[in-house]
Amino acid sequence: MTGLSNRSGGTTAAGNVASPAWAGEHAPSTPEWTCGTCGAEWPCVSKRRQLLAEYGADRAMLSIYLGSCLAAAAEDLPVAGATSLQDRFFGWLPRRSRRY
Ligand SMILES: [Zn+2]
Repeated sequence: MTGLSNRSGGTTAAGNVASPAWAGEHAPSTPEWTCGTCGAEWPCVSKRRQLLAEYGADRAMLSIYLGSCLAAAAEDLPVAGATSLQDRFFGWLPRRSRRY
């Protein structure tokens, strides 16, 4: 009962795959939309790294996920303004290719 599982393996033989270990970390705390773990504005730096690692090549899915979060945050934080929220949720995404 150390509380730590063996993380060296790439695949998990035991444990619930449907629930990632980081699911409860750096989750947004609503309605403030601050990070429940580190208290920074969500998505915090750690969460951004997790999202990039999680979605990686699937940028479209990440955009859909962030879009749903943005929609929810826009309802919770009407004073923040849609433009600043959009920049907050999408502005940190690395742009690999510009087509213009
Ligand atoms: Zn955080």
